[in-house]
Amino acid sequence: MPFILSLDEGTTSARAALYDYEAKRISLAAVPTVSHFPHPGWVEQDAALIWQSQLQAARNTLGLADVAPAEVHAIGVTNQRETTVVWDRATGTPVAPAIVWQCRRTAARCRELSAHAAKITRKSGLVVDAYFSGTKIEWILDNVDGARAKAENGDLLFGNVDTWLIWNLTAGRVHVTDPTNASRTMLFNLAAGDWDEELLGLLRVPRAMLPKVVSSSAVIGHTDAAVFGAEVPIAGIAGDQQAALAGQACFSKGLSKNTYGTGCFALLHAGDTEPISENRLLATRAASTTAQAQFAVEGSIFIAGAAVQWLRDKAGLIASAPETEAIAASIPNTGGVYMVPAFVGLGAPHWDAEARAEITGLTLGAGRAEIVRATLESMAYQTRELIQAMEADSGTRLAELRVDGGAAANNFLMQFQADILDRPVVRPADPETTALGAAFLAGLATGYWKSVSEVEAFWKVERRFEPGMAASARDSLWSGWQRAVAKARTTC
Ligand code: ADP
Repeated sequence: MPFILSLDEGTTSARAALYDYEAKRISLAAVPTVSHFPHPGWVEQDAALIWQSQLQAARNTLGLADVAPAEVHAIGVTNQRETTVVWDRATGTPVAPAIVWQCRRTAARCRELSAHAAKITRKSGLVVDAYFSGTKIEWILDNVDGARAKAENGDLLFGNVDTWLIWNLTAGRVHVTDPTNASRTMLFNLAAGDWDEELLGLLRVPRAMLPKVVSSSAVIGHTDAAVFGAEVPIAGIAGDQQAALAGQACFSKGLSKNTYGTGCFALLHAGDTEPISENRLLATRAASTTAQAQFAVEGSIFIAGAAVQWLRDKAGLIASAPETEAIAASIPNTGGVYMVPAFVGLGAPHWDAEARAEITGLTLGAGRAEIVRATLESMAYQTRELIQAMEADSGTRLAELRVDGGAAANNFLMQFQADILDRPVVRPADPETTALGAAFLAGLATGYWKSVSEVEAFWKVERRFEPGMAASARDSLWSGWQRAVAKARTTC
């Protein structure tokens, strides 16, 4: 029986999952990845290690299931988005560390670009911000010796992590990306579905280094037998958040999900018309399984689970992420303590690159438990900001929020989310929705699954968290959060 293999290269780990015809996960392997923080606000990863970790994860998952590479029917690729890799076309060697999506090194350049903000937003759907790939590519070309001349000659290639993995999987034969990833570069014309000459000119990025934009659900090439062990079709590509939207079976207008990973990303499927946000959310591409372009509205929070990692690795307050659940539940409330996790600025809807994290409202009675609980609660408050903006944009009230990502395993957080949002929170049976979504795209492209309605039926609920907080308590906590955010902000 053949299987679908999903490669899911996230910010904290490279994962690989194998699925059968019922979309049942047969095996899952994860290889951790390491981020480096060479200067305040900078975030880098080693691109060669990203590839090696992903290949290792793929081998491990096949090994766990005792499945040979030749038994894989098709591969879907999903990835941390915006992270920027530039490499030498001839040698395959990256010319610089991968600049991770969270990296703020181009914040000053983005302030310069704000004179063109209206045009950039109209064309790309994005807010001008260092988050996106465009200014990261420009930075590499301006700061690595000889890079700009080489790029103009066609000797350097750019890719987000999807492109980089596929280029390596195909031994350098295929240089492609899909619309969901391309729409995160600030170089892609959202309506036209291709790179935009004017945006390329503005950001001084030579077209010669850009990948070809192909469909999110189609056979775009085959793995190299010497690299992967067999020639297997690569048939699905989507950025992690759009893959999670598909993995949550949100294939049509009005369905939404929120992912609690390193950051938090809420996406609302917008159907086949380009959305325009009045509330500083992003317009982006959703993964389409047909030739018809699909769109989504997105709210992106840079730091969510990463604040829990900070509690563990920098503050030394916890030994592991899961223990935050019991610590938070050990006290009735934070006693007025708020954590605003603006470690790399604030994303949607504030877009304040210079803001920095703050813990406010400390009293002598507040300690470890209050700070840990406030950190978990910050994910829920930030999510409410996004959902409110989405509802204001769309004029509709969300019926429920489908959730996933590493921190969605935290029952305290999910209940608090339902309470502070005053909406049910629904966690699916398979929490690996990102990997599942990429598998859906690959399986649909190759006839492994026959239709979107067939894969929609695979989505099952594990647990529903019903809202149970009194309105007065909710309103008072919410006002406290708004005051804390106002303190952390550098712009109004
Ligand atoms: P990514 O895809 O961005 O690498 P994941 O979806 O794998 O992220 O989630 C990992 C993140 O979730 C980490 O930042 C981690 O701190 C956080 N996390 C994992 N488990 C828990 C938990 N039980 N409670 C709170 N946070 C958690």
